[in-house]
Amino acid sequence: MRHVSDPEPPLPPAPGADDHLALEFANTAIALPGGQYVDLLGSPAAVNRWLTARNLAPENADVQEMCATQLRALREHVRSLFAARIAGAPALPAALDAVNDALTRVPTAALLRWDDKTGPYRATPCPTNEILEHALATISASAADLLTSAEAETLTACESTPCNRYLIRHGRRHWCSTRCGDRVRAARAYARRTANPS
Ligand SMILES: [Zn+2]
Repeated sequence: MRHVSDPEPPLPPAPGADDHLALEFANTAIALPGGQYVDLLGSPAAVNRWLTARNLAPENADVQEMCATQLRALREHVRSLFAARIAGAPALPAALDAVNDALTRVPTAALLRWDDKTGPYRATPCPTNEILEHALATISASAADLLTSAEAETLTACESTPCNRYLIRHGRRHWCSTRCGDRVRAARAYARRTANPS
């Protein structure tokens, strides 16, 4: 069920996104023609629903803006690692650190608290934190798996400007969707017509 306030995904999933959580995650920020920008993780409620749909959080996790910000920050790091892998360039140390931090973070221990009236008790950390850390770790593991798998050779950025989605390339197809492919072909045809006005 899709909540009315959720932005509709403007494009179908990119090739490979169904198999790689990290790829789907990286593609939640979408640049569209005409300067449009759709963020499928644009609000805490949207983040909650995105995580719930992937069994990474219960419906009532009550995700806060701080958690949503952390998730969007990880997205930028994952995107930068994908871009580095595709370019054959060195990774940004901050992006590597972010993914490794998320992979190694363990749930915080229940702390000892002292109530003035009832005495000592253990307080489990905010459930949202545990959920978020689990989600961050799961997404990071998926990114690490993809980047080190044989499929990383076929990880590609969509070549249809201004699209910013990533995909797993099959054959020579270098765009993420039929719509992006059509735009590339239309641009090529237009370039040919303007080059040969006769
Ligand atoms: Zn595209």
